[in-house]
Amino acid sequence: MMASSDDSTIPSHTKAWFYSEHGNPGDVLKIHPNWPIPELKEDQVLIKVVAASLNPVDNKRITDFYKDIYTPDPHLPIVPGLDVAGIVVKLGDQVKKFKVGDEVYGDINEDGIQNLKILGTLSEYTIAEERLLAHKPPNLSFVEAASFPAAVETAYEGLERADFSAGKSILVLGGAGGVGTQVIQLAKHVCGASRIAATSSTGKLEFLRKLGVDFPIDYTKENFEELSEKFDLVYDTVGQTERALKGVKEGGKVVTIVPPGVPPAIFFVLTSKGSILDKLRPFFESGKVKPVLDPLTPVPFSQVIDALSYIQTAKATGKVVVYPI
Ligand code: NDP
Repeated sequence: MMASSDDSTIPSHTKAWFYSEHGNPGDVLKIHPNWPIPELKEDQVLIKVVAASLNPVDNKRITDFYKDIYTPDPHLPIVPGLDVAGIVVKLGDQVKKFKVGDEVYGDINEDGIQNLKILGTLSEYTIAEERLLAHKPPNLSFVEAASFPAAVETAYEGLERADFSAGKSILVLGGAGGVGTQVIQLAKHVCGASRIAATSSTGKLEFLRKLGVDFPIDYTKENFEELSEKFDLVYDTVGQTERALKGVKEGGKVVTIVPPGVPPAIFFVLTSKGSILDKLRPFFESGKVKPVLDPLTPVPFSQVIDALSYIQTAKATGKVVVYPI
């Protein structure tokens, strides 16, 4: 027996964006009015999606950008989308952490972009294992909560892998992006960085300063690796690893999240964990670590293709969130 609010109100099918072949989102992404919702496994919950944020990897999957490195889509057709905030409407038999009616958020794909869910989050309903989810802090709206999971968990995992700690300095490449904005805030408020530098284009330097950056660097005017100042950690969210290696102090580290990563830089792909969101909850509740929403947010469900095209420009500031769904 599975617990639910009222089984008669839970649909067996959902409206969802899907693709049956790879290509540009505008050509291949379509709305499915009746995508079948699979049976819940014992550790999964069914979520009524309220908001879903977009990630560059959504485009990379759809266009098959990684075809020479990964085969990310287990089979087609498939519903994309990793990040969700919504309401639990049904529980698998062994679910312990949540009950029906709980407001949750998370990145529903545990293993980066491998073993992708057939039913992603660009859908009115989605499914996730309870270990990938956390309770939504009440002070965050669904839109704000949906903006966090993949970006902040990636930011956290990179800082953890680099053993970043109080009193160290950091340079964030791509400081204005979804991940970069969270690396800056975690470095400052969670880790206690001594000094934070970050790169952006000219128009975003003031934004970086307001986010907590001590030393914003305009990449259109300066090459960060030619500066005399060096850093304990360079966190590369752009794909500039070889240059990043020239920006570290002796004994310093480089973390990169853009494949392939050049050793000795630490390259990793995010493992989604609700426990990271739980750990960071006090910082979200106190407002020390804030959601950063691109001005395009909120994007109505019908406008997902335009929003994905915008993300493809790599000009988003913080996160683009789809709402209402
Ligand atoms: P975004 O689309 O949010 O990044 C957009 C930002 O990048 C813009 O604000 C832009 O600022 C900035 N930017 C673009 N070019 C440069 C540049 N040359 N120097 C400095 N800043 C630049 O991306 P995300 O932050 O979500 O992701 C970043 C990358 O990391 C993507 O390639 C993504 O696929 C990857 N990723 C990998 C993960 C992993 O697990 N390995 C997890 C998450 C993301 P401006 O307008 O000022 O140029």
